[in-house]
Amino acid sequence: MITNTQGSASGPQPADFTDVRATNLAVVLRFVRENAPCSRADIAASTGLNKATVSSLVADLIDRRLLRETGLTENRVGRPATMLVLDGSPYAAVGIEVNVDYLTAVAVDLKGEELLSWRRAFPGGSTSAGQAVAGIAGVARRVVNRMTKEARQVLGLTVAVPGLVDLNGSVRLAPNMGWRDVDLAGDLAKALRDPGFPVSADNDANLGALAELRFGSHGGAQNLVYLTGEIGVGAGVVLDGRLRRGGAGFGGEIGHIEIVPGGPPCHCGRHGCLEVVAGLGVLLGHSVSPAEVESEIDEVVQRAETGDEAVLAQLDTLAGNLGRGLGIVANLLNPEVVVLGGYYVKLAPWIVARAEQEMLSRSIAPGGGGCRLVVSGLGYGAAALGAAARVLDSVDSGRLPGV
Ligand SMILES: [Zn+2]
Repeated sequence: MITNTQGSASGPQPADFTDVRATNLAVVLRFVRENAPCSRADIAASTGLNKATVSSLVADLIDRRLLRETGLTENRVGRPATMLVLDGSPYAAVGIEVNVDYLTAVAVDLKGEELLSWRRAFPGGSTSAGQAVAGIAGVARRVVNRMTKEARQVLGLTVAVPGLVDLNGSVRLAPNMGWRDVDLAGDLAKALRDPGFPVSADNDANLGALAELRFGSHGGAQNLVYLTGEIGVGAGVVLDGRLRRGGAGFGGEIGHIEIVPGGPPCHCGRHGCLEVVAGLGVLLGHSVSPAEVESEIDEVVQRAETGDEAVLAQLDTLAGNLGRGLGIVANLLNPEVVVLGGYYVKLAPWIVARAEQEMLSRSIAPGGGGCRLVVSGLGYGAAALGAAARVLDSVDSGRLPGV
């Protein structure tokens, strides 16, 4: 624990001191997020910070309207204490997910309560990156205007993209969108005319995993893998409670693991990749237009419900191939839970049991090492919600709004 001590001649320089204080503010904020309502004494006892320091940090967080006081408690030993809870009512974190056929925008407050959720058709796969950025900026402006009308300050915006996004928010490759080397975070900040809040971009599966970690109902699992079930299939990997992006940010590309040697061609130039043999293409053919995916999947579900044998056989093939991929995940990462997102949620009744059985049969650890296969309860908004969660994560790690 870093403590807030006044420096001697050899002590911290002013910049270090600022860092230490920011770190300690974040420690207190996170403690209250996880333990509210709690008292200043609770914070001191659990964090190791001394009481005077905690009082000063709490005063700062109250000034920033990140915490607020909420009455006294009487059911404790000793004097009644003033209890603290998260405030955050003046703030909003914004997440937008773009995909080949739709765009989702969400805003949440500091507590993660949803303030706004929009989903609309978006021709991400059929417009240029420049047009897409203009479209995303238009939606972002409307969200920000709405939040401003509600007297909320936007803490940040993150955009989720199905593709390789580097650690600077630049999209190296988003094949299904037709994007290559697009400085999405930078271009979007410019399109928003330097909006006064950070703009970032990240891979959709990474952000889905962040959403599951913060908002999902997985019993506090700290090791989870989230799979997008869209036109493409990507994985977001959380190990020991932290999102793992890899060296350049390109980890989790499960969609291009070879599952069926010599199988159908993938747009990546290889054959039998997971996203070709366990993605929506198995059900829809590979020529379906992005705009039609949702209605086509609804039709698949209807036919499966009526016992259409051809569709059931396709679903069985998809699930078996998915399970083969998950066997690799279970052996390599030993997650507590694998969460299926996107369109996989609608297909769950026909794919989960079969995919789980296949995964278990391929895991060297008994019982798949304890790995459960579940579907996301966060719906289509998972990546957008995770994008907003990333903004909250940056606040929790010390990038606080000013007073
Ligand atoms: Zn591929």
